[in-house]
Amino acid sequence: MNIQMVDLYKQYLKIKGEIDLEIQKVIESSVFVKGGKVVELEENLKKYLNIGHVITCGNGTDALQLALMALDIPEGSEVITTPFTFVSTLEVLALMKLKPVLADVDPDTFNIVPEKILECITPNTKAIVPVHLFGQCADMESINEIAQKHNLFVIEDACQALGTDYYFKNGTIAKAGTISDIACNSFFPTKNLGAFGDGGALFTNNDELAGKLRSMANHGMSKKYYYNRIGINSRLDAMQAAILDVKLKYLDQYVLDRKLAAEYYDRELDGIQEITIPARVSYSSHSFHQYTVKVSGRRDELKKFLQSKGIPGMVYYPLSLHLQEAYQYLGYRAGDFPVAEKLSEQVLSLPMHTELTEEELTHIVASIREFFN
Ligand SMILES: *Cc1c(COP(=O)(O)O)cnc(C)c1O
Repeated sequence: MNIQMVDLYKQYLKIKGEIDLEIQKVIESSVFVKGGKVVELEENLKKYLNIGHVITCGNGTDALQLALMALDIPEGSEVITTPFTFVSTLEVLALMKLKPVLADVDPDTFNIVPEKILECITPNTKAIVPVHLFGQCADMESINEIAQKHNLFVIEDACQALGTDYYFKNGTIAKAGTISDIACNSFFPTKNLGAFGDGGALFTNNDELAGKLRSMANHGMSKKYYYNRIGINSRLDAMQAAILDVKLKYLDQYVLDRKLAAEYYDRELDGIQEITIPARVSYSSHSFHQYTVKVSGRRDELKKFLQSKGIPGMVYYPLSLHLQEAYQYLGYRAGDFPVAEKLSEQVLSLPMHTELTEEELTHIVASIREFFN
């Protein structure tokens, strides 16, 4: 058995006809950057998300940087985010000469804790960047309340959560990526909606911010070869847009496929004492970008054992961001974020994708059982 962490090739084979045709059309049009296909994708994503504006860009990291640029957050301002995530958030704050202030995460959801955000707020705080880790939303209603009260911007890092639903207390449902000032998304191949290369997008309901984002992603251009602000070059190419536009039609099915695999894992792993299955919350669905369990002890041995059985596993993330060498200048130390630190020793993400077969799932859970017996 050749089990993949993410099986992109098998996923492609199912829609090969459509994808190949669309790629061929882009070649024939020879409009490779911007152009019709990119606009079509933006329109279709707008409908899918029910949001005012979608601005595509080069990747998810650029999206985060563009969001900070468009909000004109003054140099040196504090921005609160999580230590337990991919490096991008911290990286763009550093690049933008903003001061990252970290707030610890919840041991069950792995997401930033609103009460911890509150403790970090100073007169110099300007924004909060929550991350919807592994496909489940952060507690956005509480975070938005805090932001409103303290006059802060909220930038959602929705890179792992496209297709996730957020449930407001009043019964309203909204898509992840539509519940903040600006949301950032990545189309990296392994993400919920993955391109065949890099890609990203920004989502907002604010017309003025949308205009700024679009211009800033395109060198700060106002009209052709006139620049009224400093921008960057960050764009999605037409080939990727064509591929994404085909795959967008299947996004809800992809999310469902992942959810079914997650439910299988839940059922089969719940009885194993050493394993804690992913927690669910009342305010968010889970799109299972990752299926991440907590292992109490012997996590690395389990990972090795699974590897010997042909089962890949990944540790997202092995070192909390505040302990990374590049970010020592922030002055954090071991012990500052005990939950994030403990999680980096406990978490293990199991194979999770849209093409997992019953046979593969059976082999994975049987192997985990075997290890603990
Ligand atoms: C993937 C990811 C990013 C970065 O996206 P890229 O397209 O790789 O730049 C940022 N934040 C999170 C949480 C991610 O998972």
